[in-house]
Amino acid sequence: MSLIINPFDYLTYMQLRQDNILQDITPKDMPLEKGLIGVYCGDGDQLTDVIKHTLSMFAQNNVPPRPHIIALNGGPLLIHPKSPVHNGTVMDNIVESERMKAIDTVVLQIHIPCGKAAKYDISLPQAMQLTIAAKEYVKGMYGYKVLCLLHVDRTSLAGPNALEGKRTYFFSAKKAAEWLRDHEHKAPATKSRPAKPLMKLVPPGGA
Ligand SMILES: [Zn+2]
Repeated sequence: MSLIINPFDYLTYMQLRQDNILQDITPKDMPLEKGLIGVYCGDGDQLTDVIKHTLSMFAQNNVPPRPHIIALNGGPLLIHPKSPVHNGTVMDNIVESERMKAIDTVVLQIHIPCGKAAKYDISLPQAMQLTIAAKEYVKGMYGYKVLCLLHVDRTSLAGPNALEGKRTYFFSAKKAAEWLRDHEHKAPATKSRPAKPLMKLVPPGGA
């Protein structure tokens, strides 16, 4: 059974679109000549569309496709050591892939609705924050170029929203971080727990 975007994430997504934090176009200056290391969630309902978009990025940049995919559940959410779903296997595989293939462009793609995020009560703002922290970590530690993307599947929504289907957006980590700070999103309360603010993450090299 495929998942449905929860109302909080959907409203956040609509606001992000309205504020131009989410953009359709992948930056042209992303170096894709050597290929890319794609850190994606393994979600079988989405991966076909995700790969289609990945191939289109190579086409946009007029370079032959060379996607090297690392697809564990949750994808980029697993990277930062302080993430509640941290799994060092992902970072190990990024470094190993760079050494084996000499690809130093890393694409961190999160998505909604994500089963892994739902299981651990990670809202869209928190998932974006974890992705931004992962970008800083990967860049700071290894100097790789990092691109952040969000994949959205609206096909399970009711009404006209469903017609928009699936789409992949680019977001600037800097602008998104400012937006998240300005909006101070909290994950919505559920029966089992109160609302919780964004996670505090310490940048690499920090206290
Ligand atoms: Zn997922």
